[in-house]
Amino acid sequence: MAIQRPKGTQDLLPGIIEQWQYLEETIRSVCREYGYEEIRTPMFEATELFQRGVGQTTDIVKKEMYTFQDKGDRSMTLRPELTASVCRAYVEDKLYGQPQPVKLYYIGPMFRYERPQSGRFRQFHQFGVEVLGADQPIVDAEVISLVWNLYKRLGLSGLEVHVNSVGCPVCRASHREQLQEFLISRKKDLCNDCQERFDRNPLRILDCKNPSCQEVTVGAPTTRDTLCEDCSTHFEKVLAILGRAGVVYRVNPRLVRGLDYYTKTAFEVMVEEIGAQSAICGGGRYDKLVEEIGGPATPGIGFAMGIERVLAALQVQNKLPEEKPKQFAMLIALGEKAQIEGFALLTALRSKGIPVGMDLLGRSLKNQLKSANRQGASLAFILGEEELDRNVLVIRDLTSGEQMEVPLNDAVEEIFMKYQRGV
Ligand code: ATP
Ligand code: MG
Repeated sequence: MAIQRPKGTQDLLPGIIEQWQYLEETIRSVCREYGYEEIRTPMFEATELFQRGVGQTTDIVKKEMYTFQDKGDRSMTLRPELTASVCRAYVEDKLYGQPQPVKLYYIGPMFRYERPQSGRFRQFHQFGVEVLGADQPIVDAEVISLVWNLYKRLGLSGLEVHVNSVGCPVCRASHREQLQEFLISRKKDLCNDCQERFDRNPLRILDCKNPSCQEVTVGAPTTRDTLCEDCSTHFEKVLAILGRAGVVYRVNPRLVRGLDYYTKTAFEVMVEEIGAQSAICGGGRYDKLVEEIGGPATPGIGFAMGIERVLAALQVQNKLPEEKPKQFAMLIALGEKAQIEGFALLTALRSKGIPVGMDLLGRSLKNQLKSANRQGASLAFILGEEELDRNVLVIRDLTSGEQMEVPLNDAVEEIFMKYQRGV
């Protein structure tokens, strides 16, 4: 049997790739407008980076990482997310020495060993941003507003932006106690995962998707009830800035991003229409992370967005660009001499930025014309022995069928003008 691609991966072929390019270009222009610069980090890192940077108790580290020993017997892991890598680069490349804050974005593949299903892959792609070195509420608002405005630019609707504050280590300690007290008598009704979480990370129980856990946690103390004054003021400011900027959000006191280093603002964006995997974006503030991986104490905030899920939302809402761009023109060269001359002409046109093609299979005039039409070309340039003798090129408008002749020497100029005019 022929070899197949690994489970949970995709080939992105022409016809689909244009949608990816469109989304990526839109992302890049929004990032430019918001003043974020691109960063690219390695596809694999020392395993320890993710163990410390993502957190030992998370699903990602417990069961989803692609980890291997390299030939030097070092443990390496294909990146499952990029926040830890960006923080590592911030420390290693001394970005803390540059004017602060540092505002970065990335687009690229991530790898998680999960059960593949609709909207869930083993190699998937994320767009994300990270802002390092600023702790003001306005930064949280900027990051959320970037997401909101990207979706607006893409024409998506029906999105729900959920925001919450998970507090800081100080107020979280008292919340943790109150929560454990509330849950202790019904601990046995929790799912296995949550029973495990009870001691290690009880906060996570609040956003367990299991119905029985949801029932047990009805009326449980939320983080918002226990925020300290600093965290509470921070949160109210974020909400006020978002409201004034026209971002529609919902405070969801159950929204918890699992990691220990998450502080204050947490948020998630959902779209119902794309099925069970409805989260298209998740993010939050992580004021302890840079320190956690060995850098100077630095506040940070960011999000990661699933490209495949955004594309799925664009698909169901019919917001994707129609079809792949059409070929502008095809050169039809007949005979060996015409082919050599024609290829030189093609090269001159291409170097002026005009997309043109020619037959590569030695087809007849009739079949070359057919193929030009099939590719949706607007023009055909015809060059045969007879045209070569007279030093002319025939330009045929494939829509109207009209033809004209131009001197071969003027052909590049003539065609360039047509290209600029759009025919
Ligand atoms: P989920 O609850 O869907 O597993 P998550 O909390 O693991 O999401 P994050 O680590 O916050 O997700 O990643 C941010 C975004 O990346 C998600 O909101 C989602 O859109 C996308 N994403 C995460 N895992 C996958 C995957 N395996 N396949 C496709 N997209 C994914
Ligand atoms: Mg996950």
